[in-house]
Amino acid sequence: MRLDPRAPLVLDTRELGRRPGSQRRVTLSAPAPADLGIEVLRVPEGSPVSFELRLEAVMEGVLVTGTAQAELEGECVRCLVDIHDEVVADFQELFVYEESDTARHPHGGEDDDVSRLEGDLLDLEPLLRDAVVLMLPFQPLCRDDCPGLCIECGARLADEPGHHHEEPVDPRWAALQGLPGLAEDRSEN
Ligand SMILES: [Zn+2]
Ligand SMILES: [Zn+2]
Repeated sequence: MRLDPRAPLVLDTRELGRRPGSQRRVTLSAPAPADLGIEVLRVPEGSPVSFELRLEAVMEGVLVTGTAQAELEGECVRCLVDIHDEVVADFQELFVYEESDTARHPHGGEDDDVSRLEGDLLDLEPLLRDAVVLMLPFQPLCRDDCPGLCIECGARLADEPGHHHEEPVDPRWAALQGLPGLAEDRSEN
């Protein structure tokens, strides 16, 4: 499948040229693709992702170094409250020229993990996905010491620092109170 030059995360490197050492800075903002992040914490689809990139032509391709910044939405895994945060992800990737033999095996085929230019175009999306996911906590919390939910009533303990329940009635007393003998004694008084 060929890259679409109009796709928001496809970058045209024509202006950079191919003379090794040539550099260009690019800033751009693109809408976030779907499913960017993990289930409990992700960049909302369509929200802006800001890129600051440095492109550098090297012998075998274009070296892309940069930062992507985006907002995050998710839920605390302990208390389920909504989390709004932002992610700043750094990355660096070499995009090899289409016609370059770098990373091509002598008998055909090539390493799957090589990023390749298509003509002058490169795709930032795989790069963005890898960089963002790496930055996300495996188990997001609303705060590091989130006390979670009350196991008896489900209240969010971070909202109620003094939250507690009256001591439950001792089950042995509860049993005695229900004994018919005791009830009869009381009625005679
Ligand atoms: Zn929490
Ligand atoms: Zn409670």
